[in-house]
Amino acid sequence: MITKAATAEAQNREIQALRSDFGGTLVVPGDEDYDIARKIWNGSIDRHPAIIARCAGVADVMAAVKFARQSGIPVAVRSGGHSFPGYSVCDDGLVIDLSLMKGISVDPDARTARVQAGVLLGELDRETQAFGLAVPAGIVTHTGIAGLTLGGGIGWLMRKFGLTIDQLLSVDMVTAGGDFVRANDRENADLFWGVRGAGGNFGIVTEFEFRLNPLGPIVMAGPILWPMTDSPQVLRFYREWIKEAPDELSTIVVHRCVPPLPEIPQELFGKPVVVIACCYAGPVEEAEKVLRPMKEFGSPVLDLCFPKQFVAHQSMFDPSFPHGWWYYFRSANLAELTDGVIDIVAENALKMTSPLTAFPIFQLGGAIARVDEDETAFGGRSAGYVINVNATTATAEGFDKECEWSRNFWKALEPYHTNVYVNFLMEEGEERVRQAYGAAKYDRLKALKRKYDPDNFFRLNQNINPS
Ligand SMILES: Cc1cc2nc3c(=O)[nH]c(=O)nc-3n(C[C@H](O)[C@H](O)[C@H](O)COP(=O)(O)OP(=O)(O)OC[C@H]3O[C@@H](n4cnc5c(N)ncnc54)[C@H](O)[C@@H]3O)c2cc1C
Repeated sequence: MITKAATAEAQNREIQALRSDFGGTLVVPGDEDYDIARKIWNGSIDRHPAIIARCAGVADVMAAVKFARQSGIPVAVRSGGHSFPGYSVCDDGLVIDLSLMKGISVDPDARTARVQAGVLLGELDRETQAFGLAVPAGIVTHTGIAGLTLGGGIGWLMRKFGLTIDQLLSVDMVTAGGDFVRANDRENADLFWGVRGAGGNFGIVTEFEFRLNPLGPIVMAGPILWPMTDSPQVLRFYREWIKEAPDELSTIVVHRCVPPLPEIPQELFGKPVVVIACCYAGPVEEAEKVLRPMKEFGSPVLDLCFPKQFVAHQSMFDPSFPHGWWYYFRSANLAELTDGVIDIVAENALKMTSPLTAFPIFQLGGAIARVDEDETAFGGRSAGYVINVNATTATAEGFDKECEWSRNFWKALEPYHTNVYVNFLMEEGEERVRQAYGAAKYDRLKALKRKYDPDNFFRLNQNINPS
């Protein structure tokens, strides 16, 4: 009979063997930095892995995969650590942590960038904006480029340039067998299709190659705020205004209490508001004309939408989503902002109880919708909006109540749901993952999973079950 002690001893021997040829660092329970290394962005997740392999390069990733294969322990993959449900850390398993892999190399002539998996959005923007170039990505700078890209990638520049995956030229990966592969239009094209939307299921991406787009560095961007009680009128005006909007304009509607930030007058702190946050990926003079009707609508309490560095705009939401707070999400895609949707949104926004909750509605369309739905694994290119009902508290106090608010709000919108953006899912089961891709694509992804990961080695993710 194999005792628990014998199993632990065997695992220790395997860890020692891995340690002898590992370029990065291995962190185990009891190590001084263990508690820091196991933390991820969402403070409500508290898991204790058996080992955290902080990889320095591709060879470490291959060794870590082979180690997990041999010892049979579960594997979580971590890059930026921003998974909403915390899939990037696990209990009693191995975390393959790519956060030390920070290489970025921009080729300004070819307008391409090679980016390692541990890079965060702000780090990438800094390097690309030095050349007046950008990869369209998300709206918080400390998010990881890896997880964001592998699920699609929505943000300020998507209506002009497309999703983050629409800029992807090639990926370097380590497979479930621990082997290196490259996937792009010419090599392993089926894998390249799947990686663009269902990425974490097929292997570990160690490096991305992106196409870059010219941008700024000055853009017209920022939030315009009205009292939250004006939300029904503001949203009705907004939906008509954006019907004519050029692709250069991307907007995000946010309902929240005003945060205490230096650029905001103190008398507004804590006041509930509806915000139309804008970014115009084109000439500032043109932006002024396009934005004027919205800026002049009703009586805004504050208008911080003016010309600024794109990188400054990109970090606007950072203070609202810090590491360590408790977060819960319920998300859905919506076709339109009908009167029914607007009334549900306005009514439920007034019911949030945490002063830290801020929930976004992203405007889609433009370049995203011009790529054929079947070209990539990402599902829902024709959706009009993504709503993400985000419940936030600083600690456990009040969290359950705010989560219940989020669930009730999401449920009220159910008649209007179309599908869901996979990167905004919590741990919600197979049916919701199927909804994210649609039934036909989900079946195609299952077949791909059977080819590249038949044992479901990579299963701590929005899982495509091969069986
Ligand atoms: C504050 C915040 C803001 C956000 N804003 C946006 C936004 O504007 N737009 C948007 O599209 N999304 C946004 N997201 C969602 C985000 O895209 C996902 O949470 C994404 O998974 C984060 O990637 P990560 O590398 O930081 O996460 P991690 O937690 O490190 O990884 C998440 C999952 O991705 C997979 N994965 C990660 N790295 C790799 C890799 N190298 N190879 C294979 N699989 C991997 C794994 O399955 C892992 O469990 C936001 C999230 C947060 C927390």
